[in-house]
Amino acid sequence: MLKSALSNLTLETPTAFTINNASKKTIVLETTTSLKDTWLTPVFKPSVVAHRSANRFRHPWPIPKRGMTVAEWLINRRKAEWPTWEENSPVEKLPHARPDASINDWKIWFVGHATVLVQIGPYNFLTDPVWAMRASPAAFAGPKRVRPAGIALEDLPTIDAILLSHNHYDHLDKASLSWLYARDRMPIYSGLGNGHYIDAHMRVIELDWWESIYFHKDDRIKIVFTPAQHFSGRGIKDTNMALWGGLSILTPDDHLFFAGDTGYAHHFSEIRERLGAPRLALLPIGAYEPRAVMHAMHMNPTDAVQAHQDLQATKSFAIHHRTFQLTDEAMNQPLLDLAKALNRARLPAHSFATPSEGEMISA
Ligand code: ZN
Ligand code: ZN
Repeated sequence: MLKSALSNLTLETPTAFTINNASKKTIVLETTTSLKDTWLTPVFKPSVVAHRSANRFRHPWPIPKRGMTVAEWLINRRKAEWPTWEENSPVEKLPHARPDASINDWKIWFVGHATVLVQIGPYNFLTDPVWAMRASPAAFAGPKRVRPAGIALEDLPTIDAILLSHNHYDHLDKASLSWLYARDRMPIYSGLGNGHYIDAHMRVIELDWWESIYFHKDDRIKIVFTPAQHFSGRGIKDTNMALWGGLSILTPDDHLFFAGDTGYAHHFSEIRERLGAPRLALLPIGAYEPRAVMHAMHMNPTDAVQAHQDLQATKSFAIHHRTFQLTDEAMNQPLLDLAKALNRARLPAHSFATPSEGEMISA
């Protein structure tokens, strides 16, 4: 089956896998070098969107000013030492297809960074799939991962849809999208403009903030693109030209919320008001120091706990930490800070799951 699907391919699939595990399955892909993204100005069809002016998206609410410029930060940078490589702890279970599962039966698997396999009934959703060695436009430079993905690509069940939050390199990985599309031909749900960065063969369903669409396989399920306080761009000329955000999966009874990359703002309360309190919220807890620079665009664990409370989530699930060193905090600082923040908020530790790579929780 796989062989015949591959033989029909017309697009180039990544073949240079840099790291396999003992069973020869793919736990890291070579990064696709895509330097043209770094200097070309994308051309998008004009459309009237309330939160866009002069071809760039913007937040319709005030954004906190930085206390330090990015240049000042980079010149005086004091970043914590991270290990160059760590293996994941062995896991006992692997995901499998669940064609007969009830829509209320959820299994959520942490792959690593912002990549999560969300099994809702018989459907398999994958958030921001990144198996690439580097979060970068080049295979030879840029932030390098310090641990492999927790689930090999071959061990994923057939993916029904990808939820893509924005176009930053640690979220939009061309090598992973190509690999997955070659096998599963799944559509990608994302924000306006992100199709520009993805191979034309693939089907990208672009949504504006608050826009929703029925899931293509089951009209009991809706997918909503939600606001986030962040930015976008893969180069020097495309800042904020494609829309960033989070995604919600709404089933008849429940709500799964994937926050993408975001600073803390009022949008979490608004998401709860409009879409209901999530049964599970995937919330970023890493890439937050120094606060003077990162505060507006990345939450720290205290912010993430506040977001969990604003959402009134039954449970949250920590993402966006300990895979790529993007900022200055130590590798394990987000988990230590999260435990303290939960304690300060008098919340039990189990209200905010912190699975290791490859681990699953039933939510
Ligand atoms: Zn980002
Ligand atoms: Zn990120």
